[in-house]
Amino acid sequence: MKPAGRLLIGIGVSPGVVVGPAVVVHLTLPEIPQRVVARKDLKGEATRLRAAVAAVRGYLETMRGRAARRAGPEEAKIFDAQILMLEDEEFLGGVEGLIRQNQLSAERAFEFKALEMRALWADNPRLRERVADLTGVHFRVLQHLLGQPADRVPEELGRQPAVVFTHELTPGLTVQFDRTEVMGYVAEEGTRTSHAAILAKSLGIPCVMGLVGCLEHIRSGMMVILDGSRGTVLLNPTPQEIEEAQAQERRRLELELELERAVAQPAVTLDGARITLRGNVDLPEELESAAQHGAEGVGLLRTEFLILGRSDLPTEDEQVLYYTRVGERFAGQPVVVRSYDLGGDKFPLNQGLEPEANPFLGWRALRVCLDRPEIFRGQIRALLRARARTNVHLMIPLVTQVEEVERTRELMAEETERLRREGLPVGADLPLGIMVETPAAVVMMDRLIELSDFVSVGTNDLTQYTLVVDRGNARLAERFSSFHPAVVRSLKAVVDAAGRAGKEAAVCGEMASEPAGAYLLLGLGYRVLSTSPPRLPMVRWLVRQVDLAQAKGTAEAALEARTTREVQEVLDAAVAQHLDPRALGVRPLPSPRSRTTLKG
Ligand code: PEP
Ligand code: MG
Repeated sequence: MKPAGRLLIGIGVSPGVVVGPAVVVHLTLPEIPQRVVARKDLKGEATRLRAAVAAVRGYLETMRGRAARRAGPEEAKIFDAQILMLEDEEFLGGVEGLIRQNQLSAERAFEFKALEMRALWADNPRLRERVADLTGVHFRVLQHLLGQPADRVPEELGRQPAVVFTHELTPGLTVQFDRTEVMGYVAEEGTRTSHAAILAKSLGIPCVMGLVGCLEHIRSGMMVILDGSRGTVLLNPTPQEIEEAQAQERRRLELELELERAVAQPAVTLDGARITLRGNVDLPEELESAAQHGAEGVGLLRTEFLILGRSDLPTEDEQVLYYTRVGERFAGQPVVVRSYDLGGDKFPLNQGLEPEANPFLGWRALRVCLDRPEIFRGQIRALLRARARTNVHLMIPLVTQVEEVERTRELMAEETERLRREGLPVGADLPLGIMVETPAAVVMMDRLIELSDFVSVGTNDLTQYTLVVDRGNARLAERFSSFHPAVVRSLKAVVDAAGRAGKEAAVCGEMASEPAGAYLLLGLGYRVLSTSPPRLPMVRWLVRQVDLAQAKGTAEAALEARTTREVQEVLDAAVAQHLDPRALGVRPLPSPRSRTTLKG
């Protein structure tokens, strides 16, 4: 968080502007008295533990019901993970063991085990952003055991609609109140893929996270303007600032209606250039949303969900079915299937491997596939078979070496041959594309492009690896910007190299989902953008206002810039001058962790 006077800057995780009084909710761990339990009372202590756990499970089930009614069945599943924690016999058995062997009270034993689990989760990049879920359960059980009121919710809450400020927003707190009680949430911790962030967004409650240290500046009762689109909180606003914020919110809501209407319109710029807009699909449930939002094919089909939560691998036939189904849903249009992008911020291969000190620089993505060809061959074979009937493409992530693409081509050729011998239908012309996500790929573009049928830039990882900034770290959110001149120059080098080779260059990272980002990409020369389905109408609306000659001029100015700030200023000025000013209200959502991780 950057306090700039009265303006606090964090991460906007759920859009919308609201004005109201702050209420600070302290989810503090209760004091746990020291006491040794007499041997004869140990059984009773274990019974107390089980009773508290059952009560909190009841509360979570109520919250799950509430989330299902107010947000939807998918969002309600967020509570399943918390309920599972309380059904984990290994964990509960561990707590009971401590009670028995060390004569600890139920609260002390529970606290001990919960802190142990918390430390484990905080150390694990895959689980780190789920720590708030753990906190929700941990605090509630302790409060129950100690007979304290739950979550120490201040009395002010409920008297009039307020903006809740807290250290860590738990899923429970997010759905506990309705909009007449809570108009917005602000948390010191968390990123846009925290469970609480997802819930706030589904509930339509503006939310800002990652405002590290904000509780020092806030007192209950203080008036604030929360802007969940820009990720800001303005303290003690003047009447004029309040009026401006309210007008901005009205414009945003009008814009949302306009965007809905844009779905049916072609993505053509003012000077007649046809832009292709595709959808990024993480889960099968999102296919319909992509189609309904007017996606012209799938620009990034993430496949990690096929492995998620399983100890075995999906069969080839299972994959053929899925890829064919997606291909048929977008009949004739390209469906770009990315090979498993495991490890790093996503799921490690569930095979009891040693944890790595640096998972982002470790054994992940294409490296796993090439080192474990039995996994990769299955995916390639499934795609070759699906290609016989549909327009699926294969795309490989995190490419850093020419040999990786060569090896992939060899495997494709071998499997094509083998499928033929087996008499199975095979689409031998399966296009192979690479994701440009590393500085190595940018620098080697002229060579890599010779081996590729197309490229697609993953700006999330390209930004992370170019700037050496963890894409999921809330503390570094401000440093994570795809508008850094090094990223902008890389983007230009990629599109130029692809153009010289006569190959398609697309962008499927989050940068394409955000007005200034999409505008810059069009100016740099990209003509294919792929975004998450809900962002497609906004990008389409934007494309229809763009004059490519002007956008090119803006991109040239951005390429001259020395700093991220200068690039941002060039873009802000161009967007304000050439586009509907409401586009500025749709701000970047920093720190894009892979959406796939949120189901982990
Ligand atoms: C990217 O890195 O920009 C990308 C699209 O892939 P993911 O977010 O799945 O890593
Ligand atoms: Mg990536």
